[in-house]
Amino acid sequence: MSNFNQPLSGNDMPRFSGPGTLFRLPAADSAEGLDVAIVGIGLDSGTSNRSGARFGPRQIRQESALVRPYSMATGAAPFDSFQIADLGDVPINPYNLSDSIAIIEAYYRELLEHPVVPISLGGDHTLTLPILRALAAKLGPLALVHVDAHSDSNDSMFGEKITHGTVFRRAIEEGLVDPRHMVQIGLRATGYSAADFDWPRRQGVRVVQVENCWHRSLSPLMEEIRSQFGGERPSYLSFDIDGLDPSAAPGTGTPEPGGLTGIQALEIIRGCYGLNLVGGDLVEVAPPYDPSGNTALLAANLVFEILCSLPGCRRR
Ligand code: MN
Ligand code: MN
Repeated sequence: MSNFNQPLSGNDMPRFSGPGTLFRLPAADSAEGLDVAIVGIGLDSGTSNRSGARFGPRQIRQESALVRPYSMATGAAPFDSFQIADLGDVPINPYNLSDSIAIIEAYYRELLEHPVVPISLGGDHTLTLPILRALAAKLGPLALVHVDAHSDSNDSMFGEKITHGTVFRRAIEEGLVDPRHMVQIGLRATGYSAADFDWPRRQGVRVVQVENCWHRSLSPLMEEIRSQFGGERPSYLSFDIDGLDPSAAPGTGTPEPGGLTGIQALEIIRGCYGLNLVGGDLVEVAPPYDPSGNTALLAANLVFEILCSLPGCRRR
């Protein structure tokens, strides 16, 4: 048997009871000795429409009690492969977005003094910027798989340079991400102008609008991305739950019709196995808009799939 931390089994403690950590893993207060660190960030002051993603991490953890430790599809066994613990939440300042961004960056810079892969639960998409800043300071420009209904590459919103809709413009401008090794999947719906997706394309980003995903498997796309990125280049997965159709994930602040299916989400994340993933996030889960809890349940399962796609994850 494994010496690594194990989720508390649903056969030892009923799933509706027990600790409130992700997958009911042990909690930890330091990344010392960990291979993978789970971190929650209840930030939603970067949202442009409906707020509520501040409740995302807690709800994802709650719904994660139903996730079991072995993937029956891929044979992946993340809890037999890595030492994983839940570090709890970053103590952001709910009254001040720029202060929160600084707090998050400082938190991840300290975290990354350990050789650990951070997996983050959001929270709105603004939180990805300080994470990328900390990762790029350690590893250099990252390759990026970005799943989203939106490009999040506006220059500014209401004159603000840092919002959940400007993250990837800043990340490219600051050299945190290499746009020639960046793909955006699921982009759609209505824009501020007809040219909204031109800026990322001009930087060299591969933009896969959702119409090019409809009615097909995304496994071939992911095969192309794996051969483009290679198995060595430090790569990051940023997954905005609004990339999915609102029928699958209604609990989010900026829903757009015509989105990816839950099956395509699995194909994307499973297709990241083979990349050198150095971190990942699942953002924009806003539980107040989904009384069923299904959005957070789906998110918890997608986070499990991210663990299964980390480099070195053992498979049966
Ligand atoms: Mn986003
Ligand atoms: Mn979005």
